[in-house]
Amino acid sequence: MEKVMDAAKRIALIAHDQMKASLVAWCKKNHEALSHHILCGTGTTAKLIAEESGLPVRGYLSGPLGGDQQIGAKVAEGEIDMIIFLSDPLTAQPHDPDVKALLRIAQVYNIPIANNLATADFIISSPMFSSCYTYTRPDYVRGRS
Ligand code: PGA
Repeated sequence: MEKVMDAAKRIALIAHDQMKASLVAWCKKNHEALSHHILCGTGTTAKLIAEESGLPVRGYLSGPLGGDQQIGAKVAEGEIDMIIFLSDPLTAQPHDPDVKALLRIAQVYNIPIANNLATADFIISSPMFSSCYTYTRPDYVRGRS
């Protein structure tokens, strides 16, 4: 099913503890671009970004307490357009199943998801980041296309 993302994207921001400083710095560096979008994130990440960058970021629960699952549900409901998720590749996470579930649901619904800063840079510098973007949201009930 064709779907259109607005020019103002609904973006979820998540970073594991060792990655939070990098994500905050990236948000500060990209403050102007991000200020045109609707931001949310897992509890601690959202709070840190809002405090340090001044950007408004709606906070869900902390990741280990269900925040990733809340964001995953919003993706499934079509209420989040993309995810910047700096997961920590070197530290075991108690909520690893939730992390995997979020990656999976982003894949299921064909939304952009950045797992590192290089990918986040490519996404934010894309012309599609700040304009309407038509994409395919698979309709698994009717058939995969
Ligand atoms: P946090 O959650 O932003 O509440 O720390 C992130 C995560 O661990 O998924």
